[in-house]
Amino acid sequence: MAGGKWVYTFGDGKAEGEAGMKNLLGGKGANLAEMSNLGLPVPPGFTITTEVCTHYYDNGKNFPADLAGQVKVALAEMGRLTGKIFGDPANPLLVSVRSGARASMPGMMDTVLNLGLNDVTVEAVAKASGDARFAWDSYRRFITMYSNVVLDVDHGHFEEALEDYKERKGLHLDTDLSADDWKVLVGRYKDIVKKALGAEFPQEPQEQLWGAVGAVFSSWMNARAIKYRELNNIPASWGTAVNVQSMVFGNMGETSATGVAFTRNPSTGENALYGEFLINAQGEDVVAGIRTPQDITEVARQAAGSDKPSMEKAMPAAYAELCRIYGILEKHYRDMQDMEFTIQEGKLWMLQTRSGKRTAKAALRIAVDLAQEGLIGEEEAVGRVEPGALEQLLHPAIDPKAERRVLTTGLPASPGAAAGEIVFNSDDAEAARKTGRKVILVRVETSPEDIHGMHAAEGILTTRGGMTSHAAVVARGMGKPCVSGAGQIRVDYAKGTMTVGPTTLRAGDFITIDGTLGQVLLGEVKMQQPELSGDFGILMGWADKVRRLKVRANAETPRDARAARDFGAEGIGLCRTEHMFFDEDRILPMREMILASDDKGRRDALAKLLPMQRQDFVELFTIMQGLPVTIRLLDPPLHEFLPHTEEEVAEVARAMAVTPDVLRRRAAELHEFNPMLGFRGCRLAVAYPEIAEMQARAIFEAAVISARETGKPVIPEVMVPLVMGVAEFDLVKARIDAMAKAVISESKTELTYQVGTMIELPRAALRAEEIARSAEFFSFGTNDLTQTTLGISRDDAGSFLGSYTAKGILEFDPFVTIDQEGVGELVKLAVERGRRSRPRIKLGICGEHGGDPASIGFCESIGLDYVSCSPFRVPIARLAAAQAALGAIKAKDA
Ligand code: ADP
Ligand code: MG
Ligand code: MG
Repeated sequence: MAGGKWVYTFGDGKAEGEAGMKNLLGGKGANLAEMSNLGLPVPPGFTITTEVCTHYYDNGKNFPADLAGQVKVALAEMGRLTGKIFGDPANPLLVSVRSGARASMPGMMDTVLNLGLNDVTVEAVAKASGDARFAWDSYRRFITMYSNVVLDVDHGHFEEALEDYKERKGLHLDTDLSADDWKVLVGRYKDIVKKALGAEFPQEPQEQLWGAVGAVFSSWMNARAIKYRELNNIPASWGTAVNVQSMVFGNMGETSATGVAFTRNPSTGENALYGEFLINAQGEDVVAGIRTPQDITEVARQAAGSDKPSMEKAMPAAYAELCRIYGILEKHYRDMQDMEFTIQEGKLWMLQTRSGKRTAKAALRIAVDLAQEGLIGEEEAVGRVEPGALEQLLHPAIDPKAERRVLTTGLPASPGAAAGEIVFNSDDAEAARKTGRKVILVRVETSPEDIHGMHAAEGILTTRGGMTSHAAVVARGMGKPCVSGAGQIRVDYAKGTMTVGPTTLRAGDFITIDGTLGQVLLGEVKMQQPELSGDFGILMGWADKVRRLKVRANAETPRDARAARDFGAEGIGLCRTEHMFFDEDRILPMREMILASDDKGRRDALAKLLPMQRQDFVELFTIMQGLPVTIRLLDPPLHEFLPHTEEEVAEVARAMAVTPDVLRRRAAELHEFNPMLGFRGCRLAVAYPEIAEMQARAIFEAAVISARETGKPVIPEVMVPLVMGVAEFDLVKARIDAMAKAVISESKTELTYQVGTMIELPRAALRAEEIARSAEFFSFGTNDLTQTTLGISRDDAGSFLGSYTAKGILEFDPFVTIDQEGVGELVKLAVERGRRSRPRIKLGICGEHGGDPASIGFCESIGLDYVSCSPFRVPIARLAAAQAALGAIKAKDA
């Protein structure tokens, strides 16, 4: 690649590059060019392209032959614009060398400022500026930075020397040092370098420049940068660019300064300039925390109660200029900007601009404001907020000002924060709740029998289990904060204590958990409640306008159903009926039903369950006000309902009038080696049709009652789980239809309903064409479909799945983001085959993937009708569905 263009200049109101050339010039270089083109004050300079970086690594760390010539020309042009000459002993041009990849990348080389200074040019700078202190301050900064980032001499040595010097002289601040002080220190710094390297600090500006350029390119392959790219999916082939720019000086006394500013507040989104600056300082002094920076605006200064003057007061002209420029930049980029600037003797210079990072709250407000100001369209605003980030807004969070006393850290299993008294079992949680106390349920791990305790608790903490453990999945479903796998905690159920190192807490002590960060905190920490109106409501409204996919919720309790509606769900896509049987007053008849030795016993027990089940559905239908509700027949393995303790066995035996021994034997018969693939799903209905009949009756009777009460017709969707083919489905459907007929004739009411199935076994996906002849809808149960397609049990995946994603065998956790190539392929195939026999078959997804933005994109692409997810993810799904629809429109246009 000889004869390429390796160097792009900028400055003096023009540039060879522009903002669209980020791939070639890096983000910083492209935006410096853009700002120059806009006529903003940018110190002139040039960008060495990312292609040089690629060339450098492809050619044994050598530069292209014609690079040096192009750099020479560009340096000369910089000299012409600034009236100085790089390397000239009398009139030296000083430059900064700055790295800049396409995406801003911590881990890359730090910037070197004041390059070109040496023992001779420092005197020239002192003379020209009439400020020896400034010249020597700049030189010592240069030696420190260059030694640290290019020569790899630890900056700790320089800091020590400086501290030592200040101490002996009784000086406190760096700004207290005089020219002579710095001069002495420069001598010491050079000695430090010599001692470390066995060579003099490089005096030759050309050598300094190429050393710095080489260091930037080398830093592309340092461990920090490689790690960062790995974590953020940035390919190594992108390379970094290098920016060489003439220096402007914020350290030339009281009329000079350096600062950073955001065009809007990055944490609240408020439309007001926000930032900090430091007088008589250079480069990153502001962020380095050497001195406390000052506020830019007077309003901010007053709010902070600071006695240091704002930039608005101290440097009104430069402040006015900054305001003028930020207005231009925001209009031009049509987004909130994060800017870096320096003021040299009253004149403001722009050194960087980019789209600013922001909190979810700010992202929302800024997107809405920009649209309302007419800078962007509503659809663009919808695309500006990352759906997953909404999660931060939907749950109570710990007040950012509150003090955090961290006891220990586990996995951030379910976001949001909660505080309460410690309880160690679910019954205690429920009892406490009834007396109005708030509790955190602390368990080694949870099981389906803890559902009532999890419901009663504000949050859940487990010492074992990963992100997809029972506790984590159920907590996310309930929208409750959960920290799982906090392995440093020892729980002693017998004593009622939990211990971390020297700290022991007892039941009744207060803790706070932060499920967003995975922290366990001591005491009751102050919270902030989510705000769902205002900007949130407006943006969601815009999202709903462009969205094609409907969004339903997975919900079974009235509380969840209400939350789902509040969050904008358009129906229930999955009502799991088994959760309804774990309640205290229901588990007993449930157990009687399971353990009954004959039909009659089963029917008696079911008769006790029917009214309770019917009441559940009446409540649910009434809350949903005629919106569609999909109810899944009993699904989990029967053994999950079995009595465990001696006490429980005795209780059930008494109720059934048999001996505990008989019961134990029956329970042993139901034992399974692999319950996930065992006696569950529609297999229960095939073996014991009475169960399905009872549930169907409860559903239909409830539909009749609720329709009468609300005046809104209910169209229940009865869903048969885990079918592998049409024969099973038909068998169960016949029972459901018969029950519907019975209820219709008993109640003398018309009733519309649908019977459909979950597609959660590969065989069902393959036989979808036949199944769809009988089934009126498919709901893809992608949790089980993932387990059965990959042959991975979700509950056991924790021990190895991490290695799979780390080694790149799987790109994502397939239980979080749908495995498009495998599971997705089966879904696609089932959609096609199902539509062959029933072109308008209703299609949805109800696995955890229904709330995952990437998976929702996939659902849009294959044309499903709806996604269903846990209530708290409904807004995320609505936004993700809108973005998927916009993406689809764009793809069609292209
Ligand atoms: P980062 O990638 O860490 O933001 P920069 O390349 O932006 O690093 O440099 C950090 C800081 O150094 C800038 O914010 C600015 O204050 C200062 N700086 C960089 N180049 C110059 C220059 N030519 N003149 C004055 N200050 C500069
Ligand atoms: Mg910067
Ligand atoms: Mg399932």
